[in-house]
Amino acid sequence: MSEKKHFLEQIIDEDVSNGFPKSKIKFRFPPEPNGFLHIGHVKAICINFNLAKKFNAPVVLRFDDTNPEKEEQVFIDAIKKDVSWLGFNWSEERFASDYFEQLYLWAEILISNDKAYVDSQSSDQIADQKGTPTSVGLNSPFRGRTIEENLKLFREMKAGLHDEGSHVLRAKISMNANNMLLRDPVIYRVLKKEHPRTKASWVIYPMYDWAHGESDYIEQISHSLCTLEFKPHRELYNWFLKQIADPNKIKPKQREFARLNLSHTITSKRKLMQLVQGGHVSGWDDPRMPTVSGLRRRGYPAEALVAFVEAAGVAKRENIIEASLLEYCAREELNKTTQRVMVVSDPVKIVITNYPEGKYEVINAENNPEDPESGEREVLFGKEILIEKEDFKEEAGKKFFRLTIGKEVRLKGAYIILANKIIYNDDQTIKEIQCTYDTKSKSGSGSEQSQRKVKGTLHWVSKTHAFEVEIREYDRLFFEASPASAKTNEELISMLNKDSMRVLKGYAEPFLKTAITGSKYQFQRKGYFVTDKESTATKLIFNKTVGLRDNWAKKQNN
Ligand code: ATP
Ligand code: MG
Repeated sequence: MSEKKHFLEQIIDEDVSNGFPKSKIKFRFPPEPNGFLHIGHVKAICINFNLAKKFNAPVVLRFDDTNPEKEEQVFIDAIKKDVSWLGFNWSEERFASDYFEQLYLWAEILISNDKAYVDSQSSDQIADQKGTPTSVGLNSPFRGRTIEENLKLFREMKAGLHDEGSHVLRAKISMNANNMLLRDPVIYRVLKKEHPRTKASWVIYPMYDWAHGESDYIEQISHSLCTLEFKPHRELYNWFLKQIADPNKIKPKQREFARLNLSHTITSKRKLMQLVQGGHVSGWDDPRMPTVSGLRRRGYPAEALVAFVEAAGVAKRENIIEASLLEYCAREELNKTTQRVMVVSDPVKIVITNYPEGKYEVINAENNPEDPESGEREVLFGKEILIEKEDFKEEAGKKFFRLTIGKEVRLKGAYIILANKIIYNDDQTIKEIQCTYDTKSKSGSGSEQSQRKVKGTLHWVSKTHAFEVEIREYDRLFFEASPASAKTNEELISMLNKDSMRVLKGYAEPFLKTAITGSKYQFQRKGYFVTDKESTATKLIFNKTVGLRDNWAKKQNN
């Protein structure tokens, strides 16, 4: 985390210096289990858990499960997995639905204090009376119901005696309030839908604003941190708390920070759901998805996601962070931690004519030059070698430092070879390139020739020992930098990059046979890759996490 304290930390510091007991500081992360967590949530998670670390305070993981129409157990499980994977431990696991009874009892208190009433109009009628920011609203004809009548109706709603849409409970605040959210907001509706946790116990469900602040209060959260769109809700949040809070208890304080938006993708569970349901991606964990599970499957280490949101910073104004910053953070982390291996994806065969037939030798290759502890592995070298087709040109200009006829290159970790002759197939494609090798040039052998400098170094595999793997390369999911601007689902879908996935064959050195799902590698000169969960005993599949350099920026400028 940066040295400078961000504004939320400053707010808490100030509260402490004004006498707020440090031991009472408490945070929560409150996802609605209606989808998988995305990179935006990582920001909210890091803000809460990092502040908790600073102030030695607990964090509640609270599922905001007040809408049974959209919430599912699979999402609860996925959210827990993701928060843990990011490296954070919550102190308590709670559900807003645990508080349904208490919320109901408080709603009865609101009614008893003439602060809430049952409205029997349709939602359209209620909306029509809302007024506008520049004109006042109209009182509902039911606003004057007696406390007794309201209590009776509300109890009947709870008992299931009324149909969906027939009545709602509204807070009685003011239809003239400047803040539209205070114009008698709905706090309960009838919904005859089974809840994943409370099952059929409830047929009325609390609305977000009523449930959220009161849940914060029940848990005695000191600082309830949310995104900027909730800023206008703060007044309502405080109004509700005023009605029910015991003055001797902590009154939670809501403060808002800017959402994290990432370029070329969307950070909204609802819109991500459309991609999943429409079959535009293979699932929530499709490696192109900006979800935590998608990024994990793509090979992003948790450390890179955390470093990314920290680099993006905590601010009060929204902006779009470039996807290239996330990629940069991944490269920084993966460069330090990944095993190096050699894989050739579009091969051309090299035959080393002066290398003995049937002979193989072992090359000791560094596992990770960035990590002296990582040791070495054995790579086999022989007469027939595969290199990338693009690393050879029959005739090349001065700037081509790879293999061309009459020039030398070093095969990484092995020998210097000289290209002599191309052998063609009948169809004029290249069958093989005949080379000779400098027998004394073996890397690390200590000979004078081993120190000899040639311009190019190529990755390679021994043709006899290499095995076939599948490589999946990805591009931006959306070609538009800000797909969030789409007004409709159709428009959003039209912004999808149709070529965001490419499947290739690769030929890998035998060491890679030890790969298990989630193992990460640097394929030398190619980029960072991770073993995909769809790998089988006979076919390993690798997802490209990110290239070694920022090719996207280059492509855009061409
Ligand atoms: P979505 O629109 O994706 O469903 P949400 O805000 O409705 O997002 P919640 O599950 O309610 O999602 O969010 C849990 C917490 O994560 C909230 O505190 C919310 O403010 C925060 N959060 C959600 N999206 C972002 C984002 N893009 N950047 C930062 N924080 C976010
Ligand atoms: Mg939401």
